[in-house]
Amino acid sequence: MNSEFDLHLHSNASDGEYSPADLVAAVEKSGVRTMALTDHDTVFGLARASAAASAAGLRFVNGIEHSASWEGRTLHIIGLDIDPEHPALLDALGKVQEQRRERARKIADKLARQGVHDTYPEALCLAANGMITRPHFARLLIGRGVVKDARQAFERYLARGKSAYVPVAWPALGETIGLIHAAGGVAVLAHPLRYKFTGAWMRRLLRAFGDSGGQAIEVICGNYTPTEINTSVGYALRFAFNASVGSDFHGPSKMSRGPGGLPPLPSGLAPVWDLFR
Ligand code: AMP
Ligand code: MN
Ligand code: MN
Ligand code: MN
Repeated sequence: MNSEFDLHLHSNASDGEYSPADLVAAVEKSGVRTMALTDHDTVFGLARASAAASAAGLRFVNGIEHSASWEGRTLHIIGLDIDPEHPALLDALGKVQEQRRERARKIADKLARQGVHDTYPEALCLAANGMITRPHFARLLIGRGVVKDARQAFERYLARGKSAYVPVAWPALGETIGLIHAAGGVAVLAHPLRYKFTGAWMRRLLRAFGDSGGQAIEVICGNYTPTEINTSVGYALRFAFNASVGSDFHGPSKMSRGPGGLPPLPSGLAPVWDLFR
């Protein structure tokens, strides 16, 4: 039997392909009963997703996937059960939106130096429903025939260290967790194993996350193998974090799994939803 929860989903308010309403329809078909919309650095899709979910009889959790910086690296911190109208949160997100536009201009400059010209207006247009993200540039590069798929777009241009990579100083980890708490939410470390930290760094990260007020980590994630789930369960138990479940679904044309279709949380873990208001 699959988990009835999927607490990590994207719409076209950030880099997902479905509108909030279409996402809810896909989630409903999957058999999930409780969903969270967690777009990158924006709450823009929440009102529409929440309305569609309540019409479909699904429980809906207001969420966000907030970009944060730690030790020069980008982390994704999921805020669940947030107040989507909290003024301090909205103020901070406005600044991140500006950072994202600024980064997009610089990505376009770097692409131009690689012979791929005038991408900024096109990327802005692709992101017309919300936050501008690197996957919008990936889609544009695919559309122009420069690369064959998103993986290639990241490997050649967009991934850290590649020719069109532009680093961003996102809000610090502690600041991000503080904002999520201020907005009444629970702070969850998204996909802990995807940062590719080795053992000692992974433990440092989990300690820093906990010391800054982080409460839960994702232990079931769309593309995790059974071994990765076991590793994550071990971290949750060792560091006394609650556990979350999310597919990180972005749309049908991505290799990501979901929505739903996730294994249930292994017994012995405290579920993140115990912390919801
Ligand atoms: P951004 O927040 O704008 O830097 O974009 C990050 C997003 O890019 C992630 O949430 C993923 O959806 C996507 N992404 C990151 N790395 C890759 C990759 N190697 N291949 C495909 N998509 C990726
Ligand atoms: Mn994404
Ligand atoms: Mn993420
Ligand atoms: Mn995500």
